[in-house]
Amino acid sequence: MNGLDLLTESRVREQTTWLELDRNALRHNLIQIISLTLPSATIMAVVKANAYGHGLFEVVQCLRDKVSYFGVASIEEALTLRRFEIDTPILLLGVHFGNTIEDAIQSDVTLAVSSVEQAREISERAQKLRKPATIHIKIDTGMGRLGIPKSCALQAINEIASLEMLQLEGIFTHFPQGEDEKDPFTQEQIRSFHKLIEKAGEKGVHFAYRHAANSIGIAHHKDGHFNLVRPGLTLYGLHPHPSLKRKLNLKPVLSWKARIILVKTLGLGESTGYSRTFVANEETTIGVIPVGYSHGYPFALSNKGTVLFRGGHYPIVGRISMDYLTINFGSNLSDANVGDVVTLLGKEADAEISVETLAEKAATISYEIVTQLNPAIPRIVL
Ligand SMILES: *Cc1c(COP(=O)(O)O)cnc(C)c1O
Repeated sequence: MNGLDLLTESRVREQTTWLELDRNALRHNLIQIISLTLPSATIMAVVKANAYGHGLFEVVQCLRDKVSYFGVASIEEALTLRRFEIDTPILLLGVHFGNTIEDAIQSDVTLAVSSVEQAREISERAQKLRKPATIHIKIDTGMGRLGIPKSCALQAINEIASLEMLQLEGIFTHFPQGEDEKDPFTQEQIRSFHKLIEKAGEKGVHFAYRHAANSIGIAHHKDGHFNLVRPGLTLYGLHPHPSLKRKLNLKPVLSWKARIILVKTLGLGESTGYSRTFVANEETTIGVIPVGYSHGYPFALSNKGTVLFRGGHYPIVGRISMDYLTINFGSNLSDANVGDVVTLLGKEADAEISVETLAEKAATISYEIVTQLNPAIPRIVL
């Protein structure tokens, strides 16, 4: 939902598919993350990609008074938060040009900076607007993607510090791995980042925010917490790596529900869906679910996935299509009715379909499953 109103429960009853967000789980996960984080550090909640597909507005509403920063990837996300009257600081990650820079400055959105040229452009735009821009300088200590390479970082910081109308509020870096607490690559990144901050300090450049750790870094590299940490996936109750399960007891925030919109019987030899990949070998009951790959359900789960119905798993049969998938209720289950609810993600009684298992079956990662959830699917906060 992009509107200002949270969807009410009664409106959800009219929907054929919707996502349920568990506010208590979100808070629980945040508390778990805080308890692992050094007391010197506060939290930047990473809510890019529509809050990992969960719903930007819904998630931010739950977290707004509990974190010191939000991290987003697009100016649209940043401006959406400002329109929602969220006045928490926002860091716009990535590299942005032209009017996007001016929009950010005008809405008090902090810009990440990955080069001196970029800092110069921001400085020029800030002078034009007669309004200082707040920036966080990104240092590439080993990710090999965004950021100023560490070899030339000190000189770049000095050059950036000499530009007009820039407030150098933060400095940060990013870890490409770190699943192992003793990972020497991550340890070296942390060491070189520490050293750079120290040297910049000696030259009189101090940063109010110093940050490096994503979810994995928070769990496994406390010396990389500095004074701000940037959890993403773990906030939503998902583990980026199984090794985090030992340290973080997380609760999934998201469930995905849909109604059976049609029930029919296939006779022996009849098929369902494109390319006729499923042919009934006995008379069987099929339920049609109004969810397809356009909603973000992986096509790869055709003839592979399951959904939950009354606490049991039922197989997806046939090809998943753009807006529908079909469930096989078998030969003797006659009590599946139009309007009944099935669970595509989440729990029913003792049965569960987690994002992780879905990702594994679809040969992808949890991040991709959740970020593909179509923003048009209604979200309800429970
Ligand atoms: C996405 C992102 C994060 C969060 O990563 P998780 O693995 O989801 O915790 C942190 N920092 C930056 C710069 C990111 O882009």
